[in-house]
Amino acid sequence: MKSEGDEISMLSLFCISKKVGVKMNDLNVNKKLSTVLITGASRGIGADMAISFARKGYNVLANYNNSESNAINLKEVAESEGKRIMLFKADVTKRSEVEEMFNQCIKEFGSVDILINNAGVDVEGLFTDATDEEYDRVLDVNLKGAFICSQIALKHMISNKKGKIINISSIWGISGGSCEVIYSVSKAGLIGLTKALAKEVAPSNITVNAIAPGAIYTEMLEQIREEDLEVFRQETPLGRIGNVKDVTQTALFLAGEGGDFFTGQVLSPNGGVVI
Ligand code: NAP
Repeated sequence: MKSEGDEISMLSLFCISKKVGVKMNDLNVNKKLSTVLITGASRGIGADMAISFARKGYNVLANYNNSESNAINLKEVAESEGKRIMLFKADVTKRSEVEEMFNQCIKEFGSVDILINNAGVDVEGLFTDATDEEYDRVLDVNLKGAFICSQIALKHMISNKKGKIINISSIWGISGGSCEVIYSVSKAGLIGLTKALAKEVAPSNITVNAIAPGAIYTEMLEQIREEDLEVFRQETPLGRIGNVKDVTQTALFLAGEGGDFFTGQVLSPNGGVVI
């Protein structure tokens, strides 16, 4: 049922459309996007996004690779709250596995409206010590994985004329991280992918944005020494390390109606450490 507010806003939209000469359809941007596929959702930020999107009523496919018991636990938490999360094991660097994952998602939910490229790995150390194997692994998961997933998602989104892609980058992709050069390269690459692809797919009513978090408490931070984290905390104007909710809230915003006019943007929940 329409409320009075709906009538008023529809009337004002109609007036605006007459003034500027656009069709009403152009103003009805994204009809409800209801299915989200999140890569690397067994742990950390991805797991929090999966349960939070499920709680908001989205259909969720949570991808995992090695951490099966964490993924099963996530599904059980959702079920205990009367929500459903579909799990799918796939290595995002393997095109055939990713294709099968999207096919299963579409079979189950009818579409993939939102893709969150979250799967990621980090490697720390001096640039001069880094190996070719480390370079290949980080670039494969963090960048090629997003390339493969986005390409497969887009086949479907372009024919539906709607969709959103959200890439999880990092502040190190913006400002560069000492002793995390390869990781910084991969995350800067994701920002390039975001901006260029946003321009290319905008005519199909698809948005592409990136989230570039600061340091967030997850297993990924476990390889960083506590004293280094303390220095980082002190250098952060808001005086704390981030938590998974800081990233999840940004993703929910971009996925929802509030994010409809954002594309090619990098939103950075980082406590002010990079401004
Ligand atoms: P995390 O706790 O280490 O979790 C990483 C996730 O990525 C896991 O679910 C893992 O799945 C998945 N993954 C790794 N390789 C994969 C592959 N080949 N295929 C599919 N999934 C794969 O990391 P996090 O801290 O939550 O980070 C999530 C994202 O945020 C990453 O892209 C990271 O770079 C970014 N980020 C993190 C921070 C931070 O401070 N934590 C800051 C900025 C950006 P399995 O365990 O099942 O293999």
